[in-house]
Amino acid sequence: MKTVFSEEMTKFGEHVFNIRHQFREYRDLKETLTNEEVVVHVDYSENWTAKYSEEIQSVHFGASQQQVTLHTGVVYIAHDHWSFASISPSLYHGPEAVWAHLQPVLQEIQQRHPSVKVVHMYTDGPTTQYRNKMNFYLFCTCIFDLGFDQGTWNLFEAGHGKGAPDAVGGTIKRLADRMVANGKDIPTAESLFQALSSCNSAIKLFYVDETEIASVRLMCPSNLKTVKGTLQIHQLWTEERNNIWHRKLSCFCSKPAHCSCYAITRVKFPSAEEPRSDAVDHASKPTDICSSDAASTLHPTDVEQVTAATGHAEAAAECSVSVDSSSLDPNVVGASAGKGPVCMSVQDFYCRSRPKILRVTTVQPTTASRKRRVNKPKRYQ
Ligand SMILES: [Zn+2]
Repeated sequence: MKTVFSEEMTKFGEHVFNIRHQFREYRDLKETLTNEEVVVHVDYSENWTAKYSEEIQSVHFGASQQQVTLHTGVVYIAHDHWSFASISPSLYHGPEAVWAHLQPVLQEIQQRHPSVKVVHMYTDGPTTQYRNKMNFYLFCTCIFDLGFDQGTWNLFEAGHGKGAPDAVGGTIKRLADRMVANGKDIPTAESLFQALSSCNSAIKLFYVDETEIASVRLMCPSNLKTVKGTLQIHQLWTEERNNIWHRKLSCFCSKPAHCSCYAITRVKFPSAEEPRSDAVDHASKPTDICSSDAASTLHPTDVEQVTAATGHAEAAAECSVSVDSSSLDPNVVGASAGKGPVCMSVQDFYCRSRPKILRVTTVQPTTASRKRRVNKPKRYQ
């Protein structure tokens, strides 16, 4: 019982540490943006239900009301910001849709701010939308297609990525509801886009139809494998097409170059022209390490894993209460859970984040395991 409690409190301490760290990096990044950088904070808003100003009973209570997807966000440049919303009749919120919604926004950034070369994305971390292999792949290909030189994708700790995009979504919905209350019918996503466009809102609007999502889907290879440790990833960094560096916490201490803090790890995705991953020659470099089974075949030089830099120990030391599993006092921890600083000790944290040495063995997947993988339901992780 005591062990279970201690484990839970250690996890909680790590969760709180991650929340605080990700918000601190987010704030510091926005305050130190150069003219070549932009921060884009996005999230899906809750779907809006299309409405008529006067509805007969069967429409109001029936299942015929169309839902509209709203993907909203704020773009931060040095000393300024602007907000946007993209509207779509498609209710699919997977990674292909994410990029169909992001493409017009990134093109708008290129037009408004031609000096920008680096995009820093910030999102919440749901596995069905942003925290999955397909989004990772599209990130390290699409931003180069759109003309940027470099990008980072930062995930807030799960459930803590709301904020400015939510406010934009709320504003859009209030505007739409007010128009309906004033007698305007808004029965579809397209009519919502037209109605909002006519009211000169400061929020930049985009319309994303099903064909745009379908065209992103065509860019996605079918043989991507899950990136090992996906659920712990809080930052991706790409400087080269099809290559990402990932780690469990965000860090910008050496920007514009990526630093080696927090056990950063490199992953190379197969390009669309390469053969299927089960035909990849594991002896050749760089190796595809996009799966847990492929990870066991890594050559040590393919993975750069470095222990945390001393500078981050200072940042972590801001958290003064240590959640040590052997000396937990529920009263102290409970009292600190509201507002006070709660964190594991720096030593505990870095012990857990220390990279594991991967064994170098060649494991060919058996025919049976290949079949199992083929028959698995499609999941994005
Ligand atoms: Zn760093």
